[in-house]
Amino acid sequence: MLSLFLPNEHVKSIFDIHPATLKEKGIRGVITDLDNTLVAWDVKDATPEVIQWFKLMKEHDIKVTIISNNKQERVKIFSEPLETPFVFSARKPLSRAFKTVAKRMELKEDEVVVIGDQVLTDVLGGNYAGFYTILVVPIVQTDGKLTRINRKIERRILSYMRKKGKISWEE
Ligand SMILES: [Mg+2]
Repeated sequence: MLSLFLPNEHVKSIFDIHPATLKEKGIRGVITDLDNTLVAWDVKDATPEVIQWFKLMKEHDIKVTIISNNKQERVKIFSEPLETPFVFSARKPLSRAFKTVAKRMELKEDEVVVIGDQVLTDVLGGNYAGFYTILVVPIVQTDGKLTRINRKIERRILSYMRKKGKISWEE
């Protein structure tokens, strides 16, 4: 049960995730969170680095879809210039959005990686839906209102797992 909260990998940022390493694992698609994963939750547009990262994935034939629990306007304004498919109001950690997107990408569960900054939505949802999960460190330490409650629970889960020796990374 607790292992559902454990990501397969933990990295500092999306820029530590490279197409070559994904391909070695047989990954052909990426489902990524938006807020505090790609940019800070209060930043409207993609940064040049993020644009470059999306380009790199495309060049290596890795499909990327953004799945966010945030509202249509926020997700649309961010995603459209990147010419990347997106899902808003995704209701993570529920499996539905993850599964729908994998189907749309025409990829199997083991060909898709789920990336995000939150254990309770991205990691839990990704694991539960059967995907490989990568947790990133949130871009900023502040969060939107709703996320703040999740973070409190998340900190408890993480510190429990750290005590149990299930987590080896430091923050
Ligand atoms: Mg997030």
